[in-house]
Amino acid sequence: MIVNNSLDEVKKRENALLIIKHLVENSGRSSLFDLTGLSGGFIASPSEISLLETYVGPAIFEQDLQQVGKEHMGGEKVLPLNRTSSGILATILTLVGEGSNVVHYLARLPAHPSIPRSCKLVGANYFETDVFDEFSIPENTSLVIVTGSTMDHQVIDEDEFKKVIEMAHDRDIPVMVDDASGARLRTVVYNQPKACDLGADISITSTDKLMPGPRGGLMAGRKDLIDEIKVKVNQFGLEAQPPAVLAMLNGIKNFDENNLINSFSRKDELFGLLDEKFDNFETTPTGVMISPEGLADEMDVSHELSDNDLAYVFSFILLKDHGIITIPAVSMPGASATIRFDLSTNDAFNLNLKDLCKKIESSFNKLQDVAINEDKCREIVFSF
Ligand SMILES: *Cc1c(COP(=O)(O)O)cnc(C)c1O
Repeated sequence: MIVNNSLDEVKKRENALLIIKHLVENSGRSSLFDLTGLSGGFIASPSEISLLETYVGPAIFEQDLQQVGKEHMGGEKVLPLNRTSSGILATILTLVGEGSNVVHYLARLPAHPSIPRSCKLVGANYFETDVFDEFSIPENTSLVIVTGSTMDHQVIDEDEFKKVIEMAHDRDIPVMVDDASGARLRTVVYNQPKACDLGADISITSTDKLMPGPRGGLMAGRKDLIDEIKVKVNQFGLEAQPPAVLAMLNGIKNFDENNLINSFSRKDELFGLLDEKFDNFETTPTGVMISPEGLADEMDVSHELSDNDLAYVFSFILLKDHGIITIPAVSMPGASATIRFDLSTNDAFNLNLKDLCKKIESSFNKLQDVAINEDKCREIVFSF
């Protein structure tokens, strides 16, 4: 095994960032192609930047964000956070008591790891399922969670979404929606309503997913709950700082639905090209992906690597040889090792898809060449 635990994941991420720095310094930013779908950004004018003081910044930008954030997310009030994970943690710290139950319905497992981890921290019993008929709400449930769109962009069925909310509200239990990418993917590409408009009490989105904002979280929902959660957020330092709030505000203002819609059609072209050479690529709403298991199935050489390790090595070859950034190389511990090529953000707009397909193929051929040599693979992932 190459990447065995959270520490290994932190180390591979550090190495990926070193490689990116080296590429930018030696060949310029244009040598990189960030296809993670999380390329984020920091849109701000010099006059706005000059207002980024500890108290002046929030006075201006948090007010403006109330307006813009509510338009984007719905709900009565919004709360900017350091990350989506911070919002999930704060909600669970606030609403979930020790020994109570938390139930989670999502289109496909796994859940984002911040959800089970937060439940564990407060000593709650956590249940999750992706089979709607198996979803139920036991006695002593303090929170019902729905994921709008999973880490791999599997989008929830709207009728099931409504039914889960109804089941929870029949019992007076609040519903938190993890809408990290869903707040845009579900609404723009699938024409679903905003989570708050469907009745969610709390909804959280990630401000660098499928929009030109910074890594951060934006919570929206019922004012009474947000006020309670905000206390925990401030007590534990989970809030977004003024620079992030400014960039969130401008990121949302600059969010262009057409980018998602265009990538929705271009992904079929990319899929068609890849499908001639591979058996296990799948489309996502805004690109293509191959799971670690799918990648393993493509291999026709003998090797002893785990499925996830294959995905990590593949992701590093794409980065080192072609400057293509995919999530497994740069992700935080616990993230999915699925390789996704997302066409919805800046670097993808002018990409020649035939060329991209060739780079993917040549990286895969290299993976086949090195897979037998575990030391070499370790070097690809951990050394610069
Ligand atoms: C990305 C993601 C998160 C976490 O977002 P962070 O900003 O990294 O904390 C949570 N849930 C889902 C479904 C995600 O895709």
